[in-house]
Amino acid sequence: MSCEALTSSDVEAILRSCGAFLDGHFVLSSGMHSAHYIEKFRVLERPDITAALCAEFVRRFCNEGIDVVLGAAVGGIILAYETARQLGCKAMFTEREGGLMKLRRGFAIHVGMNVLVVEDIVTTGSSLKEVISVAKSHGANIVGAAVIVDRGKEPLQLDVRFEALLRLPLDAYEPNECPLCKLGIPLQVPGSRHLSGQQ
Ligand SMILES: [Zn+2]
Repeated sequence: MSCEALTSSDVEAILRSCGAFLDGHFVLSSGMHSAHYIEKFRVLERPDITAALCAEFVRRFCNEGIDVVLGAAVGGIILAYETARQLGCKAMFTEREGGLMKLRRGFAIHVGMNVLVVEDIVTTGSSLKEVISVAKSHGANIVGAAVIVDRGKEPLQLDVRFEALLRLPLDAYEPNECPLCKLGIPLQVPGSRHLSGQQ
């Protein structure tokens, strides 16, 4: 495990190298248009890259006596597992049941356990906050939350320590106000065949 810190620009370069950080003209799931898109699965399909990014989570939290790394299904399963593997602790994940975020599958977080919550990308942080409250409801001591990219307009505010490896405030436009549309740049729908074969 490397002990050298990753800077924001290192993280951006890593995301670009695996095709996770795309420049262009994209329709987001919200219907808004943006000049950037981050496809987290280009990271998560690469164990080498995932391990390098999780090593930075580990570098920032390795002195916290972490018992459990917790993520939300699906992306958070991979990040929690790899971070926990490097820390030598347990990895668990939450998932939705009837719309509610829960700890299932016999995962047991006990009172006073030190829990690190990990997530790939946050925008509003609502999912991350849900995971934190699930862990708190089991009596966990949340040592912090770590994400690869914070896309919020303002840095996410939590009542626990928060670390984002890269701040990339979302630049999104209503379709009828989109400068990229006005320039006639072809619109791409992430995840569609239109993008496959890129990078
Ligand atoms: Zn547009």
